[in-house]
Amino acid sequence: MKGLEAIPQGETGFNRVLSFTIPARNARGRTLRLGPVLDTILSAHDYPTAIRHVLAEALAVTALIGSLLKEEDSQLTVQAQAEGGIVDLLVCDYLNGAIRGYVHHDAEKLASHEAFPSLQALFGKGYLVITFDLAATKQRYQGIVPLEGESLAEACQNYFAQSEQVPTLIRTGIRWDGRNCVAGGLLVQHLPEGEEGRDRLHVQMDHPEWEHVAILAGTVREDELADSALSLEALLWRLFHEESEIRVETLPPLSRGCRCTEDYYREVVSRFPEEERAQMRGDDGLVTVDCAFCSKLFKFSV
Ligand SMILES: [Zn+2]
Repeated sequence: MKGLEAIPQGETGFNRVLSFTIPARNARGRTLRLGPVLDTILSAHDYPTAIRHVLAEALAVTALIGSLLKEEDSQLTVQAQAEGGIVDLLVCDYLNGAIRGYVHHDAEKLASHEAFPSLQALFGKGYLVITFDLAATKQRYQGIVPLEGESLAEACQNYFAQSEQVPTLIRTGIRWDGRNCVAGGLLVQHLPEGEEGRDRLHVQMDHPEWEHVAILAGTVREDELADSALSLEALLWRLFHEESEIRVETLPPLSRGCRCTEDYYREVVSRFPEEERAQMRGDDGLVTVDCAFCSKLFKFSV
């Protein structure tokens, strides 16, 4: 198993991402583990545990898919829009290894549910909108799939099958240690003939190469993904050690990144008519805006 021999143990640190390929099976993947970065993002809001949990999963999925982007300054946005459930909006994005996210939820509805509500209870009737903004070509690709299945990860798998025609397996594991969260993730895809274009005519979910890889990858357990004592290299070894070759590369570490600036919000507010801006002003004549992602407060005149 080439690639892993050089680093049989691997590091057990947090916020790492590995890229891997299994050439004989035309498969590629990512695996990652998030720690303190998650705590920083989650602690910007006073979310109940169930909401922290779903946001942690969404951030892990966003980082997995985002880390597939090859060009610098390309962005991935994962947005859940829903009605009739506990959550009506969840937004996460990824840019150059930095992730951020937030959730709008109904606290009263949440209180009437069990500790960790199902995806259906969380989102009711919802859609998952996945947007790729590619830096080099300035092109935007957007796909929308119903929020169905057991988890956000499963809904994202459906996105890849339906919108991108790429057989994809995504798994996440979340572990709580008091208020601290560890999230692990695994994404594996089948790209026959190395094709990475976007115009596939059909998706072959039962290709023997893919079935083999999906069975191996599917044996991963949530507790393994979130086990901070198990390095990502060791995790890949457990799953794929019978393969003739697996190539592994460490990608730059993940970070928490918010790109909010006073200039940005001033520009947004300045687009409102004066009447509405007058209503936004406080007693001091200034408009106060707090960033939905990181809760940072901006006060400015406009
Ligand atoms: Zn911010």
